Amino acid sequence: MRVLPENHWKKLWNVEEKDWKNWHWQVKNRIKSLSELEKITGKDFSKEKITEKVFKVGTTPYYLSLAKDFSKNDPIFRQIIPDLAEIDETIQSYGSFDPFNEETLSPVEGLTHRYPDRVLFRATNFCSVYCRHCMRKRIFLEGEKARTYQEYDRMFEYIKKNKNIKEVLISGGDPLTLPNKKIGYILENLYRIEHIDIIRIGSRELVVNPFRFYDEKLLKLFEKYEKIWLVTHFNHPDEITQETKQAVKNILSTGTPVLNQTVLLKGINDNEKIMEKLMRSLLKVKIKPYYLFFCDPTKGVLHFKTSLKKGIRIMEYLRGRVSGLGIPTYAIDLPAGMGKVPLLPDYIVGEDENYIIFKNYEGKTVKVSKSYLI
Ligand SMILES: *Cc1c(COP(=O)(O)O)cnc(C)c1O
Repeated sequence: MRVLPENHWKKLWNVEEKDWKNWHWQVKNRIKSLSELEKITGKDFSKEKITEKVFKVGTTPYYLSLAKDFSKNDPIFRQIIPDLAEIDETIQSYGSFDPFNEETLSPVEGLTHRYPDRVLFRATNFCSVYCRHCMRKRIFLEGEKARTYQEYDRMFEYIKKNKNIKEVLISGGDPLTLPNKKIGYILENLYRIEHIDIIRIGSRELVVNPFRFYDEKLLKLFEKYEKIWLVTHFNHPDEITQETKQAVKNILSTGTPVLNQTVLLKGINDNEKIMEKLMRSLLKVKIKPYYLFFCDPTKGVLHFKTSLKKGIRIMEYLRGRVSGLGIPTYAIDLPAGMGKVPLLPDYIVGEDENYIIFKNYEGKTVKVSKSYLI
């Protein structure tokens, strides 16, 4: 149950249903400071205000409305409200602003080319919610700006020249906060490059502003440029609503698959039962869990870090209990741009001369003859 009745929000902003469900309205009416958040929640955040000098605050009214409680115990509110730990140098000392060298592995401003067949295309610095655990928190410091058409053109040139590139990952910031015209420009140009098979869009709008996908014009673009896959970022089952369901339905109707990346976050989802519920909730609305990431070593984010083993225990718990469709790949992104590495519980627990010994999902050991396996 939400703390406040659903229509409280509509009353508070004095907003009609049709505006509440308009993605522009949600972006335009973002809450952008702790003072505004104090007014709305009636809580005192004076202690946290010092963090705003470093990392901005921002949320859509919709995303805030999903919080059941305006405290750090709430998994939604915890992703919105800054923690003093963000600017605590002892806690953040291991972190860096660009732990994966995205800027230095960049052949052209805005592109990161790490793997031979895929390139990351950072389309804008803007997001409608500033997630406290953002892996590109450096963007908070750079200011809210979209790239220019000239910058995009230079990015297209590089991709055109490099025939190994089969896939472009459009990320940001959040690329779906761009106007349809700019999105159309990017898609048209990438679509026309023959060696591009996949256009992957990484966006959190489905989580924080699902009304983005009530926009017929955007849906038309998805339909037209049929190479698109959408990857989104749900971290907790409370984020999945009727509005999510409607939005996913709209996206799927364009032929675009929807996948999810979760980050393992202390105090939000570092728990077997919550993760099970999240994976089940995603499947119910037809989103395929793709990755579960160990928390990145980004400065300002390290207080969300759990142990690597915690994630392995969660994966062990999910296997056998949840449909295989609902089991993501647990992975760590290695520092300095060394790439993503999958992490699995050990299912081979031993071997002797004749057998390899496996452990099944119930922890039972099973011997399989080597003559069969080799
Ligand atoms: C994560 C990432 C990719 C995509 O990796 P997948 O395993 O295909 O999801 C590509 N390029 C960069 C720079 C990345 O960080």
